[in-house]
Order: sequence, then C-alpha cells, then structure tokens
Amino acid sequence: MVEYQLLRAHSLEEVLEILAEKKKVQILAGGTDLLVDLHQQDPKFENIDYLLDITDVAELKGIKLGPEEGEIGALTTHAELLSSPEIKEKLPFIGAAASSIGSTQIRNRATIGGNLVNAAACADSFSPLIALGAELVLRNKGGARRVLLEDFVEWPNQTVLKDNEVLEKIVFKMPQGEYYSSYQKIGRRNAVSISRLSLTLLAEVENEAIKNVQVVSGAATPAPVPFREVNKYLTAKTFAEIDPAEAGEIAADEMVGITGERWSTPYKRPALSKLVERAVKDLLEEAGYNG
Ligand SMILES: Cc1cc2nc3c(=O)[nH]c(=O)nc-3n(C[C@H](O)[C@H](O)[C@H](O)COP(=O)(O)OP(=O)(O)OC[C@H]3O[C@@H](n4cnc5c(N)ncnc54)[C@H](O)[C@@H]3O)c2cc1C
Repeated sequence: MVEYQLLRAHSLEEVLEILAEKKKVQILAGGTDLLVDLHQQDPKFENIDYLLDITDVAELKGIKLGPEEGEIGALTTHAELLSSPEIKEKLPFIGAAASSIGSTQIRNRATIGGNLVNAAACADSFSPLIALGAELVLRNKGGARRVLLEDFVEWPNQTVLKDNEVLEKIVFKMPQGEYYSSYQKIGRRNAVSISRLSLTLLAEVENEAIKNVQVVSGAATPAPVPFREVNKYLTAKTFAEIDPAEAGEIAADEMVGITGERWSTPYKRPALSKLVERAVKDLLEEAGYNG
C-alpha cells in the first residue's frame, strides 16, 4: 500500500515553497485520475512521501478572455468551462470538449490542469487547446517558464513538467476576425466515455477562403499533434478548391504515418477520415458556402 502524508496549500507561494523544500511530492487537484491510480497501487506512485492538495489555491483558478489574449487557471474544472458564458460565446469548442468529459460528478471535480498533466493519450482537453496554439505556464520557486502545449507531452502519461514545478495556467491568443470551430468525439458509448478519437478544427476565414487552420486530433497518436499536412492542404485555399473527403484522407494518411499500422488502424483510419471530412463540410456550410 502507498503511504503518504497529506499537505494542504492555501496560496501559490505556499505550493512553491513546499515543492522547493520537500522531495517526492505529488500534487492533488480534483483527484479523479490520481486517487484512482493510488487506489489501484499504480507502481508509478510507489515513491510518494507527500500528497499536496492545491484545491484551495485561488491564484490557480479562473477564466480570463481578453480581446487579444486569454488564460485559464489550471484548477478550473470542466464544469466551470462548460458553464462559462464567455467560453460559450468566444471559444465554444473548449466548452464542447469539457462537456464531453466523464459525468456531472467528474466534471465538477476534475480540472483542466489535471487533465493535461496526467497526459493520457485519450485526454479531451488537448486538441482544442493545441488548435489555439496554447502555452502552459509552469512555475517553480525561481520563476516561470512557458512551454507550447504540443511540446508538453513526451509520451502518454509523461510530460516535461519538473518535480518542483506546478502548472499555473494555460495561455493563448484569441482567434481574430471571422472564425469557425468544431469539436467532435467518438467514444464507445454516449455517456462517461473515454475518447477513441476526438477532433478539433479551428479556422480563420476571409473572402470565402481559409486564411489559417488547425486540425488537431486526440487519441489518434501517442501524443496529440496538429495534422500539418491537412493544415497545409486547407490553408490559403478558396472554399471552391476544397474537397472535404480529400482533407479526411490526408489526415488519415498522416495519422498512420505517425503511428504505423496497428491493431486499431482498420477502425481509426476511416473514422478519422470521416471526422475531418465532416468538420470541413460543417465549416463550409456554416460559412454559407453551398458549393
Ligand atoms: C469515471 C471517469 C471518467 C472520465 N472521463 C474522462 C473523459 O471523458 N475525458 C477525459 O479527458 N478524462 C476523463 N477522465 C479522467 C479525469 O477525470 C481527467 O483527466 C481530469 O481532468 C483530471 O483532473 P483532476 O483535477 O482530477 O487531476 P488529478 O487526478 O488531481 O491529477 C492528475 C495528475 O495531474 C497532476 N496535477 C494536477 N494538477 C496539477 C497542477 N496544477 N500542476 C501540476 N500537476 C498537477 C497530479 O499530480 C496528477 O499526476 C475520467 C475519469 C474518471 C474517473
């Protein structure tokens, strides 16, 4: 059985002091990943001496969306994201991802920071935030560093976060001008379902053409990545030049190029292709293009 001492921090300064002074500290946020792993005696957590409960730390909470830049505190829960009117209005794909996570009970406790640091291949917060080009602010007692979210995960459940660091917040530039977004998720069932595949598409459009686009999938590759080939295919094309089915095929080829042929490829290849095709069709339709 894993034995540990429970510590509780009430400010960010206190978190940083504890992380600087003590070794073998594991941060506890909502606990919906960590407590399950501890209960199952995951060998990864054999060496913990302390659990550091950060749930009272106000500096790690909240959503701020300005005209140019936005930030989301690491302790913001999925329930807070999906019920935020600002998120609904300005970044609906973030709210859609949050609403697809677990159940009401899970969403009320589970935090966006915990989802990112746990870094499961199927975690639902990655694709919308990578599409935004988000960066993570990782802080220790000596100061903070920023890491691009797409560079944060080295392998499933393994990130570049250091032992003495806390994830403070997620920062990003707000999409500008006319933009369209979609978030889709396929699970084994409709409720409390872990993603088998998810997809975010975020596109800035101008004069019936795509100016800028990010297509990012979750659970398709070991670590979530933007699909650069399909982004290249869609960028700077007029709506009339875009073939949604071709975009889907390009993304599927790119996924298999990263993962190689696996047992899940016969399912994931056509499924990803269709998700991308549907997202592109929806964008064209929403933008009022009728072919
Ligand atoms: C029934 C069930 C259903 C679920 N469904 C989904 C789903 O549909 N989609 C999905 O993506 N996930 C799902 N999850 C997984 C989980 O709920 C999420 O990953 C959740 O967001 C984790 O957040 P948390 O606050 O509970 O993290 P915790 O369990 O507290 O922590 C997770 C990890 O992150 C670290 N950590 C947390 N916060 C910080 C911080 N600020 N700085 C540094 N390290 C930190 C912890 O030390 C730990 O290693 C589900 C879980 C359960 C039990």
